[in-house]
Amino acid sequence: MANGVSSLHLTPVDVSDKIKLGSKAARLDGPVDKTALEAATGALLARLSELQAAFHADGRHALLLVLQGRDASGKDGVIKTVYGAFNPTGVQVAAFGPPTPLELRHDFLWRVHQVVPPLGMVGVFNRSHYEDVLAVRVRELAPETVWRARYDHINTFERMLTDNGVIIRKCMLHVSREEQHDRLKARLDDPTKNWKFRLDDLKDRDRWDAYTDAYREMLERCSTPWAPWYVVPSDDKAVRNHLIARMLVETLESTKSTFPPMDDAVRAAAMGFA
Ligand code: AMP
Ligand code: MG
Repeated sequence: MANGVSSLHLTPVDVSDKIKLGSKAARLDGPVDKTALEAATGALLARLSELQAAFHADGRHALLLVLQGRDASGKDGVIKTVYGAFNPTGVQVAAFGPPTPLELRHDFLWRVHQVVPPLGMVGVFNRSHYEDVLAVRVRELAPETVWRARYDHINTFERMLTDNGVIIRKCMLHVSREEQHDRLKARLDDPTKNWKFRLDDLKDRDRWDAYTDAYREMLERCSTPWAPWYVVPSDDKAVRNHLIARMLVETLESTKSTFPPMDDAVRAAAMGFA
């Protein structure tokens, strides 16, 4: 049965349910009307732009979208298309690669805390502190006792940010093994994409199941009421962008941001301005 576009939406990971991370979960169940989907996404992006203007002026909250996903799952694409709808003045983007020697001499949240968006800003993380329970776990970069303690550290850290006005939403971009193959192949074949291909991508692909286990535990341990995880079916880029844009519209609407009224003293001083 075809999916009505208005019925497409994300629900937070329910930790009491079995979390599905197989190939089927990377796609919608049935087909979707492409033209209707594109039109609906265009409307959502326009709405995001409108909502951000008030969110920025209001300044009571910050928004942090955390993007995690395997190589070629579409993290850059979401930032380009969905965050591309925002006024860049109010946007903060941070990407996380392997920690530098200095970062390794600090706790794992040190580099992360510094780039959390301040109030009024919409931020996005391309990878995040979750690499410290994903790549670090699977590539055995730290002992289990070290990375296992991090689930609690992360939940407490995110709780503290939330208490300080940061609204956190976390999306795992879920691609199937077949789709990742095609996208990595395109990176090999297309000279404009060669630069994105790294040896580690192949090594990580070989550890597919170990990453699945690590993602599952991350979702189970860290989808909290204050910082929920969403699993985003991401084999189809248009569906992925639509779902995330819709979730962000609902999130920004929930803040009921308004443009602050002019200060009385400023208005009085501006009397007679023509
Ligand atoms: P990319 O996102 O393709 O630029 O790649 C960034 C790489 O940095 C990925 O292979 C990540 O797994 C890796 N990375 C990010 N954070 C960490 C971390 N805390 N520890 C180890 N590797 C990391
Ligand atoms: Mg990469």
